[in-house]
Amino acid sequence: MEKIALITGGSRGIGRAICLELAQAGYKIIVNYLSNAKAAEQTLAECNNNGIILQADVSSSDGINKLVSEIQNNFGRLDVLVNNAGITRDNLLIRMSQQEWNEVIQTNFAGIMELTEAILPIMQAQQSGKIINIASTVGVHGNAGQTNYAAAKAALISYTKIKARELMPFIQVNAIAPGLVKTDMTADFNLAELSKTKLGRAAEPQDIAACVKWLATASGNYITGQIIEIDGGLFLWSDIKALV
Ligand code: NAP
Repeated sequence: MEKIALITGGSRGIGRAICLELAQAGYKIIVNYLSNAKAAEQTLAECNNNGIILQADVSSSDGINKLVSEIQNNFGRLDVLVNNAGITRDNLLIRMSQQEWNEVIQTNFAGIMELTEAILPIMQAQQSGKIINIASTVGVHGNAGQTNYAAAKAALISYTKIKARELMPFIQVNAIAPGLVKTDMTADFNLAELSKTKLGRAAEPQDIAACVKWLATASGNYITGQIIEIDGGLFLWSDIKALV
């Protein structure tokens, strides 16, 4: 039986790379997007059109209900859910508006929890499934100017650990916490300067997607409740060799 994978925010960036990796691994791909239809079409074309495109705002209950009922109607099953869609609204906390706070918490955490809980009955009926949440290193380490984003990602990390416990043994739940990745989200950043990591570069989206494939396919069957940081050593500053 052909396996089905839903990638939220599959139109661009990390989400597109995940769609391509999973398509190459033989999955039928559901490319979700918010407003960039052309980009979603390009993603699906790069997946040899093996799948469908579903526009839905995953930060809203209406969008989530639409997505879940389309999946039920089109496939009646779901093997992999990748909660990838995310946004930033950066500001120092003292200047952060209520709207900047709400949008990020809603998209990067509350909507993900609502979508996941709505998808779970499908996976529970199958007694199988993989849930992979795209968090961030800032959800582990924090970052000035990103209280909304870091709080949402930290909540997502906690949710990942709890759902892994609650859903054992049939459904595996893991999170990936990327550092700096070359996408539209970081287009305004000086990545060369910020990426003075042990590995000397920012990540390509494919660096993250390869790990998603590993978790989604049979190679990840014995992995659950893990938070995998893929950051090129961004936070490995305390190495004594740097001091001599
Ligand atoms: P990106 O290039 O800005 O792409 C964002 C994607 O999310 C797009 O496909 C967008 O759809 C979709 N999206 C946004 N809001 C949505 C909504 N409400 N409903 C449905 N889709 C929505 O971002 P990215 O850099 O690939 O980031 C992907 C994930 O990785 C995010 O969760 C982000 O927080 C995380 N991450 C990124 C980095 C980084 O350095 N880039 C680092 C750590 C973690 P449209 O194309 O329709 O707009």
